[in-house]
Amino acid sequence: MNISCTIIGNVCAGDGYAIQVEEPYRKGLQGLEGFSHILVVWYAWPMKKIPIVVSACLLGRQCRYDGSSVPFPQAVMLEERYTLIGVCPEVLGGLQTPRSPSELLDGRVMSREGDDCTEAFLRGAQRALEIAEESGCKRALLMDRSPSCGYGVVYDGTFSGILIPGKGIFASLLESKGFMINSSSHPEALLG
Ligand code: SF4
Repeated sequence: MNISCTIIGNVCAGDGYAIQVEEPYRKGLQGLEGFSHILVVWYAWPMKKIPIVVSACLLGRQCRYDGSSVPFPQAVMLEERYTLIGVCPEVLGGLQTPRSPSELLDGRVMSREGDDCTEAFLRGAQRALEIAEESGCKRALLMDRSPSCGYGVVYDGTFSGILIPGKGIFASLLESKGFMINSSSHPEALLG
């Protein structure tokens, strides 16, 4: 028996729905030999989005050292695909906003005034990791250059704007736990 199928209807996956075409069962086709076409039923159900942990300042939260945010330009596109779990490790570590800028130096986190902030950064990174894991995240989108979230390059500890290869405290912790990390300047793998 030769049967051709006609597909009807359309559902836009971009609206947050997944699509599946129900294959007609052979058994269910018995008695339909006289028909030249079978209508294939489309149905849609809410798509389960993948959770992803994101630096909160990229989502518009004004949690940077100077009280600003850095809204991620493709946040809307990102939100269509993922459940965004915003965290700010520095705030979670108990640091105030605004606060003095800090940079990594010889494995420690130092403020511009020379205070050692490492313990607060470690505490906040741990708490942020717990939130990410409780939310089922395995991936991250992190703000560039930060002593917490930076992934790839960070400031060199001289507060002179010089960048060197490195990772922030939170980024290193996520990496050690097997997270797939994207920096905010290289989000292609998340959006492609
Ligand atoms: S710690 Fe991370 S999330 Fe918080 S302000 Fe810095 S870069 Fe943004």
